[in-house]
Amino acid sequence: MTTPKFKKFNIEAYRPGKSKIKKLRKIVKLSANESALGMSPKAIKIISDKKLNLERYPDGKSEILRKEISKKYKCNFDKIICGAGSDEVIQMICQLFLKPKDEVVVPQYSFLMYRIYAKIVGAKVLFAKEIKFKVSISEILKKVNKKTKIVFLANPNNPTGTYLTKKELLELRKKLNKNVLLVVDDAYAEYMKNRDYKPGLDLFKNKNNVFVLRTFSKIFGLASLRVGWGYGSKKIIDALNVIKAPFNVSHLAQLAAIESLKDQNFIDRSVKHNLYFAKRIKIYLEKFNIFSNSISANFLLLDFEKCKFTAKFVYEQLNRKGIIVRSTAEGYHIKNKLRLTIGSKNENLAFMSAVKKILN
Ligand code: PMP
Repeated sequence: MTTPKFKKFNIEAYRPGKSKIKKLRKIVKLSANESALGMSPKAIKIISDKKLNLERYPDGKSEILRKEISKKYKCNFDKIICGAGSDEVIQMICQLFLKPKDEVVVPQYSFLMYRIYAKIVGAKVLFAKEIKFKVSISEILKKVNKKTKIVFLANPNNPTGTYLTKKELLELRKKLNKNVLLVVDDAYAEYMKNRDYKPGLDLFKNKNNVFVLRTFSKIFGLASLRVGWGYGSKKIIDALNVIKAPFNVSHLAQLAAIESLKDQNFIDRSVKHNLYFAKRIKIYLEKFNIFSNSISANFLLLDFEKCKFTAKFVYEQLNRKGIIVRSTAEGYHIKNKLRLTIGSKNENLAFMSAVKKILN
């Protein structure tokens, strides 16, 4: 039987942080930057309601959710679009802006979905060098030319954990050709307590050539429900709504996201927990000559250069003990490092105790 011909893509498919280990039932998953404290109790309550009308299509415009977002973040309701994760919003932005042969600039070690979605629509992806695993404005500007349509940036960046300061981010927008769309991905913004940091949303609310991405998958703990949002000029949002799938965000996801936004107590607890354990784990690992980025989001990029064992060896040994962290060798092509998500108290203690056993 013949298979009808389809397009072939020269793309390395996204490989998510592993969530299973053969033969092991109980695992500690610290590989996908998910919430350490699970979901907000308010969100759990609403989606446990037996009277949900799931036989009906959801609100395709996510109206109540967008209202709640605009209230919480003091931004314009008409300039918000919701997606099945911010992933879908990245995909829509690529579909809207890019034709074959257009160019996109991404930092060398940036989140992988920017390059994947850009390539799917035929754009050429240029990589801007980073300096000590930090985004470099001058290297980005070097790659920009007349064909450049979008510069993508996660701030803080996954997987490096480094970030551009408020001043640097403003400088980038100022120096970048005004016809280029700057996409600032604020996925981890809620975790950030660094004084010199400002979320893209706060800096560029009224800029027509900046598009901001946000997600409910991280601090809000709704990764499985798939809900995120984008914020940009009314013109861009209207155009995105034309190409958007009609019912892209499920009713359950919308309800849970609305309740999560209202639960400031859960957000505060998550931030506090994250800072406490990020600090504690960072200092603990230094005893074993494993160093990491200064604390930013809910993960650390661990560097094994000075350690007596390689990242690969420690990764495999952790696996044998049922602990999964993220290897950065594949996809990101970062050698001898591992990305560790800050987990729950028990998960973090299990990780620290396993490290001690492996390294002693
Ligand atoms: N942006 C960044 C920087 C991320 O790290 C992730 C998730 N790993 C995403 C976007 C995608 O998140 P979502 O679950 O909303 O699609």
